[in-house]
Amino acid sequence: MNFTPPKGTDDIFPPTSRAWRRTLIIWENLAERYGYDLVMGPIFESTDVFARGVGESTEVVQKQMYTFEDKGGRSLTLRPEGTASVVRAFLGSGVQGEMKLAYSGPMFRYERPQAGRRRQFYQTGVEYLATAAPDADAEVIEIGYRFLEELGFPAVEVALNSIGDAACRPAYVEALRIYLNEKRELLCDESLATLETNPLRVLDCKVCAPHLIDSPKAVDYLCGECASHFASIRERLDGVGVPYRLEPRLVRGLDYYTRTAFEYIATGFDAAQNAVGGGGRYDGLAETLGGPAVPGVGLAMGIDRILLAAGQTGADIAPLDLFVVVASPELRERAAGFLSDLRRAGVRADMTPDQRSVKAQFRAANRRKATGAAIIGDEWNSSRVVVRNLTTSIQELISVEEVAEWAKNNR
Ligand SMILES: [Zn+2]
Ligand SMILES: [Zn+2]
Repeated sequence: MNFTPPKGTDDIFPPTSRAWRRTLIIWENLAERYGYDLVMGPIFESTDVFARGVGESTEVVQKQMYTFEDKGGRSLTLRPEGTASVVRAFLGSGVQGEMKLAYSGPMFRYERPQAGRRRQFYQTGVEYLATAAPDADAEVIEIGYRFLEELGFPAVEVALNSIGDAACRPAYVEALRIYLNEKRELLCDESLATLETNPLRVLDCKVCAPHLIDSPKAVDYLCGECASHFASIRERLDGVGVPYRLEPRLVRGLDYYTRTAFEYIATGFDAAQNAVGGGGRYDGLAETLGGPAVPGVGLAMGIDRILLAAGQTGADIAPLDLFVVVASPELRERAAGFLSDLRRAGVRADMTPDQRSVKAQFRAANRRKATGAAIIGDEWNSSRVVVRNLTTSIQELISVEEVAEWAKNNR
């Protein structure tokens, strides 16, 4: 038996998992404050959902999906992203009118593993469904920015673009195709292969991008409605103090994407890893899945990459406020009751599962990274306890009622 996890996956243990938990709690609280309710769907879907929803011509669908047949002969796929599933679920719910949903969980793509890119990776996101209003785009963009702000990122850039809609994009795509054909000798094989079917995807190619800095800009081709939609988003972002940079070559290379496209760049990190999230408007997606026209806008944040960029190891997060040290076996029962009281009072507290020497119990406290200890000894008879700050080793004798407060202040 081999105890290593499958290639491209990790076992996330403490202390690293502490940083994960803290990050996900910040995310959940933020999404709740902005009015996004949790949606929990299956981790696998009918393969159709992604083949249609993500797009047959995309690299994700062609090369990266974990697709399998179940015992009933159905073709299923582990979700490679969140949006198609959420829109599928919304259509299935029969709900009419706006809906704001947040999701969080593992996604799966068969890719070459590297730092910040695993085959099982974790995304959180929101979808603002059944509205085409530019305020929705601005709010979604703001949430991702605030998330990175709350996580303490020193510098985040929002790259922003509009790629138009069915009315105005064809003219832009045609201009781009003509331009790219003139640059054929500079393009990689993959870009040459998609040039005719989906020229927008060529702009996404990291290899070709440096040669395409003078390509036509989508914003120059926007129709009146798309232009005013885009202007409203920028106005709203200015109003709430979210800085952004117009990035004319930022595209979401899928057919159903319309108008807004954005990405969050954690500046100061390696360019290959610094895009920590992004999203866009996908007014055509519900129809692509076979439903009615339902506009929507959303974002996805890559938690693996965010933690990598933030350099968060979790080592600075204390998992326990207090370790209860029991001086002698006959005090153990009382100590267990005391421990239970502390936990119910909101203190993160623990003790060893069996009676050991006081020295061994302090060793356990240190191994568990507790910031304080309470020693249950003879003083208990006068309702008092010795507490010790495990960082400074300073001890004091306090009343039993004061311990919870002491432990919280000692965090
Ligand atoms: Zn290329
Ligand atoms: Zn337009």
